[in-house]
Amino acid sequence: MTNALAIQTRDLTKHYGRSGEIKALTAVNLEIKGGELFGFLGPNGAGKSTTIRTLLGFLHPTSGSASVLGLDVVKDSVEIRRRVGYLPSGFAVYDYMSGREYLDHMRALSGRPSLLRHRVMEALELSDAILKRPVRDYSRGMRQKIGVVQALETDPELLILDEPSEGLDPLMQRSLQELLLERVAAGRTVFFSSHLISEVERICSRVAIVRGGKLVALETVKSLVRFQRRRVDALVTRKPSRLATLAGVFGVKVAPEGKSGYRISCEAESAAVPKLIERLQTSGLRDLLIEAASLEEAFMSYYGDARHSTGAVQVFPEVAEVKRSKPKAAAKRPVTKRAPAKRAAVKRVPTKKIAATKRRAR
Ligand code: ADP
Repeated sequence: MTNALAIQTRDLTKHYGRSGEIKALTAVNLEIKGGELFGFLGPNGAGKSTTIRTLLGFLHPTSGSASVLGLDVVKDSVEIRRRVGYLPSGFAVYDYMSGREYLDHMRALSGRPSLLRHRVMEALELSDAILKRPVRDYSRGMRQKIGVVQALETDPELLILDEPSEGLDPLMQRSLQELLLERVAAGRTVFFSSHLISEVERICSRVAIVRGGKLVALETVKSLVRFQRRRVDALVTRKPSRLATLAGVFGVKVAPEGKSGYRISCEAESAAVPKLIERLQTSGLRDLLIEAASLEEAFMSYYGDARHSTGAVQVFPEVAEVKRSKPKAAAKRPVTKRAPAKRAAVKRVPTKKIAATKRRAR
């Protein structure tokens, strides 16, 4: 399916507790088009699973509304669950069955033929011999693979996957990503939640970032990166002055290097890079290293370090609100602890090419 909206939420709100004191989700507005590979990103407790369970009708919204494949999530939940391939977070399988029995059981419940079982098994290196074994003997990763097979095997028009990479080793995570790209190339829609920024960055076209039940950014992966800082590392012959006073330049460190040089390291918003290079050139710039921004870093600027600001604040008003408020515990426990920051491609720029670098940075 393409063009039509696969998922739409209107001020979707879900509060738990007797008096609704746990505000898991507040006024979330999302529109996911058919054929999109959409990432739903946020730290633990951000409200991702609550959103997904509400979309599948396992939970009813406190207020607001949502539709999936044009069907109302409250009135038409049975039909939605019939048509959507769903992998819940912390996927659990009946222990007494073999993998094959479980898959056959789930497929029979869906009432749809298995079209992709072998393709998915092959991609995830699941053999027939493994499927014959009882699920209670499976490792966490093998159970997760069974979950992925049951979600994908009927080739549903929409896949809703809650942390599908959990328990998979990096090689299998890659295989899963390839499978999802294949489904999207075949015209299917994929909505998946993750705390792994690197995988979202690698395969998604758009990403929504949630924090504390609120949508803090809804952007293309490309434009999120644009608002992010760069890491700059330079070697100069003279000690530069007043670098830290440049707007958009942070964390300047100057250390002597060799007999007559200084190593400068700092972070800079992309708009500040040309000015920074200009200033470094007047100090006898000999070498320059600029790390391209990754979504990982963009994410951290929303959730982690609230000291720095500007670009993103103007673009995402919600983010400004987040930054003004005192960082909460969740903000201090960055996602990177579970997903080590992916270092973006590193560019080493010879001094004579700096003019070109400046043009690119603009
Ligand atoms: P995520 O999937 O992003 O980790 P969740 O949607 O599971 O986040 O949780 C969002 C918030 O709602 C958290 O504060 C969580 O503790 C709370 N929560 C989730 N499920 C329930 C529930 N059944 N009852 C009460 N609070 C819940």
